[in-house]
Amino acid sequence: MDLGIQGRRAIVCAASKGLGRSCAESLVREGVDVVICARSKGPLEETAKSLRALGGGAVSAVACDVTTEEGRGLILSVCPDPDILINNAGGPPPGDFRDWEREDWIKAIDANMLSPILLIKRTIDSMIERQFGRVINITSGAVKSPIDILGLSNGSRAGLTGFVAGLSRTTVKHNVTINNLLPGPFDTDRLRENLKVLAAKHGISVEEMTKKRASGNPAGRFGTAYEFGEMCAFVCSAQAGFMTGQNFLIDGGAFRSTL
Ligand code: NAP
Repeated sequence: MDLGIQGRRAIVCAASKGLGRSCAESLVREGVDVVICARSKGPLEETAKSLRALGGGAVSAVACDVTTEEGRGLILSVCPDPDILINNAGGPPPGDFRDWEREDWIKAIDANMLSPILLIKRTIDSMIERQFGRVINITSGAVKSPIDILGLSNGSRAGLTGFVAGLSRTTVKHNVTINNLLPGPFDTDRLRENLKVLAAKHGISVEEMTKKRASGNPAGRFGTAYEFGEMCAFVCSAQAGFMTGQNFLIDGGAFRSTL
């Protein structure tokens, strides 16, 4: 299926590894020119090199922190008028809300709510002018089914979800859609780090914990970043203009509901 986005321009945030990187890969394979960012320059440049080797769209890399005004400014200076914006950043740390101070909340809200909103603010009107735009926010399955120790994530991402639910209904008539992708367990560094912590907490090996968690999913495994990236590319496609304000849960069926 030709997704009809060859030659489009995309910003993919937090994309030197994991889900962001896979989204960039899938878009590059579709012939989209991408600008990727991450904070650590070395791994980012390595990723950019691998993406270029795919032989699709052009690839630029901007080493920056997307949660800062300066970082967002740098990305936009390289790509001021993207057709596609993939919002992503690292997730906030787990913990007990009794230990979190105002600063912890502000950090989480900055990363997982305000950064996406501020990037949307800077890019959406030019998408509307050009009558094409696809915005995707990588959030979390925890938006739909909260995880108690991830209160900072549950709260900040729910704020973003509420905001875009309204905005997305005002832009779709201009062929500008805004949707959220909600990852369940995907086999990335972040998941592997979490499994280490869980294994230590339960006094079992990382291998045992990994097996236990994977077999507990209805699919009997974790998702692959490739599957996530391909879903992202489809939601960015020319064919996906009638889908907006949606929260696509990709979790192997782990969240049990009929509708
Ligand atoms: P990952 O494998 O740890 O990759 C995170 C990427 O984001 C890296 O490239 C990292 O590079 C970059 N990054 C982090 N903070 C950044 C910042 N402030 N500015 C710019 N780049 C930044 O993580 P992932 O598994 O792909 O997760 C992506 C998002 O999905 C996270 O918000 C996570 O909480 C959420 N999520 C993931 C899962 C899962 O199972 N994987 C499930 C639910 C939700 P640098 O460190 O060099 O900046």
